[in-house]
Formats: sequence, C-alpha cells, structure tokens
Amino acid sequence: MTDVAGFDAVANLATVRARIVAAAAAANRDPAAVTLVAVSKTHGADKVAALIAAGQRVFGENRVQEAQAKLPPLKERFPDLQLHLIGPLQSNKARDAVALFDVIESLDRPKLAAELAREMARQNRRPACFVQVNTGEEAQKAGVAPRDADAFIRTCIEQHGLPVVGVMCIPPLDEEPALHFALLKKIADRNGLAGVSMGMSADYEVAIRFGATHVRVGTALFGTRPAT
Ligand SMILES: *Cc1c(COP(=O)(O)O)cnc(C)c1O
Repeated sequence: MTDVAGFDAVANLATVRARIVAAAAAANRDPAAVTLVAVSKTHGADKVAALIAAGQRVFGENRVQEAQAKLPPLKERFPDLQLHLIGPLQSNKARDAVALFDVIESLDRPKLAAELAREMARQNRRPACFVQVNTGEEAQKAGVAPRDADAFIRTCIEQHGLPVVGVMCIPPLDEEPALHFALLKKIADRNGLAGVSMGMSADYEVAIRFGATHVRVGTALFGTRPAT
C-alpha cells in the first residue's frame, strides 16, 4: 500500500483542474469538453479513495490485473466511477477487461477487436473503445501505424460492430508532442470520431490546445510513481 501521508488529493486535483480550465479557455474551448482521466497505476486504493473524496470520478489503469485487485470495492461504493484501461491489452485478458472497464483505450489489432466483440456480446456489456495510434511509429510501442488507422477503425466498427468513439496516442518521449497531437486529431476528424485521448502530466495543456477530449494525468495528481 502506498503511504497517503503528504498526499494532498484536494490540492493536486484543484491545480490540475484549474490548468485544464485555463488551457481550454486559451484555446477557445469549453473546459467541460475535456475529461480528466486520473491515472492511478501503481498507487494504492487509499490514494484513489482520497481522489474520489475530492470529487474525481474517472480513473485510468494500465494493467488489468492490478485494476482488478484494486478497484472493484471502490466501484461498488461509487457506482458512477468510470474506469479506463490505458495500457496494452492481451487478447486472453479481453474477458476481464470487458467485465471491469467502462472505456478501453488500447484497441490496436484485429485479433483483439475480434476478441472484444465476442466478449461484449457474451457479457452484454459494451465499453467504449479508443483505437490506439502509434503516431511515432516506435517499434516497441503498441498502436496501429498512422497509415493503417483509417482502415483499422473501419474494420472495428463495420466488421466487429465495436463502439469506437475515439483515438488515443502516447507520443515518443524525446519528441515535440505537438506534432503527434496534431496528427492524432486529424485522424479522429477524418474518421468522424469525437474522442481524442492525448496528453499526460508533462504536456496535457498542449494536448488541450490541439483538441484533446481526454487527458491522462498520473504524476501531477498522485505524485511520482514508485520505481518498479
Ligand atoms: C502512466 C500513463 C499516463 C500518465 O503519465 P504521467 O506522466 O504520470 O501523467 C498516461 N497515459 C498512459 C498510457 C500511461 O501509461
């Protein structure tokens, strides 16, 4: 369990929210059009609970197993929690992911699309999906290549009937994120998708300028993660 001592959920949340409002205003956008996804990976349920008490309801986790161990009791107490899966999803975890998460942001390959479609039908539960785009075309990173994004999105919607609502990206660490944000926004627009998940603690204000509808913020809310 993470020590909650010295963790000021109220102050951290207020700071991030204020910066989201300011960034939206500067971009002539409605702040309500930007959803803050609080990335709670590696942090204990006690810190998540503190952020819930401060008013936060949308949380992101990158591992199915960790989320399963941590979040169901909180979801029980707060049924309006919205849980986003933001990390790579193995096909054999699709069942658990569909059962637990409200949004799956890491849809990135045909086999996973087929598995998610099968599970959604089986469980009669349809978490909204974001297609992850590997905008930097990094070999080690998940996501479809930008040139394959349109075809893959169509396959997910038309062939598998998946509720695809947006696109998501994680830009390369060592590059100017704005180019990647602009590219992702373009892919969303030309595919008629409203959701654009981009921007983390270091760059969520830039992402909002480029049209992010979901920013995924961990460190700025919870503090640094323990080294793994
Ligand atoms: C960990 C993570 C984040 C949050 O990163 P911070 O820099 O801590 O804000 C956002 N998106 C994804 C996909 C992540 O894995």
